[in-house]
Amino acid sequence: MIGSTIEIDLACLRHNFSKVRELVGQSAAVLAVVKSDAYGHGMVPVARELEYQGVEYFGVSNCREAVTLRQGGVRSPILLLLGVEEDELDYVIQYSLTPVIFRSDVAKAISASAVAAATKIPVHLKIDTGMGRLGVPYVEAESFFELISSLEGIRVEGILSHFAAADEHDKSFSKQQLQRFHQVLTLADNIGLTFRYAHIANSAGVIDLPDSYLQLVRPGLMLYGGPPSQELHHPINLEPVMTLKT
Ligand SMILES: *Cc1c(COP(=O)(O)O)cnc(C)c1O
Repeated sequence: MIGSTIEIDLACLRHNFSKVRELVGQSAAVLAVVKSDAYGHGMVPVARELEYQGVEYFGVSNCREAVTLRQGGVRSPILLLLGVEEDELDYVIQYSLTPVIFRSDVAKAISASAVAAATKIPVHLKIDTGMGRLGVPYVEAESFFELISSLEGIRVEGILSHFAAADEHDKSFSKQQLQRFHQVLTLADNIGLTFRYAHIANSAGVIDLPDSYLQLVRPGLMLYGGPPSQELHHPINLEPVMTLKT
């Protein structure tokens, strides 16, 4: 045989998803992260298989990926993990996408677009509990909540944060992040803001931090068979979805 081929085994994908379900049970929904073309595995066939298996939500990096999923026939809700730009809001409405938001200017633009289209746009609020990247710093969460609550046309469906180091053996920082996240949830509750989905767990959280499941988990790597690191506390049997044949 000349050259090499990559084989994607959907049975392995089903196996890995069943491991996620086994761990989190029925109380938490599963958002499958299929960004970066499902980590190179082909986002449309992967998402369609997972949708058939009962995954409740999909996560992608940007609008372009989300439109690819919709055009490929995926009907489930899709979260735009990195947020949106103002010039993408027509797509958000047209394709029923759910942006993550963490900037007040974008929140205001979403509100204006929704009102103009006589609709409501669902959003998830992103809180930075220590990652130091995207998100409203947790100490500024309250004023962001107040702004969001004052805007028309926005339906707050979720709130999320991201673990910085859940794949490390030492879980103390992750536990601190989880604690800060709970403080932020209490704060929101005090001003009457509630969420259908609060979520923070990536693959490492799913495998090692059952306390982090909340109402939704966001596995990526583990669905494709990659253990998030060699430092996990709990052994797990995952199957690589991709094989290279030469
Ligand atoms: C990529 C990503 C994930 C998935 O992380 P894995 O370590 O691959 O499980 C979860 N949440 C967000 C916000 C991400 O960007």
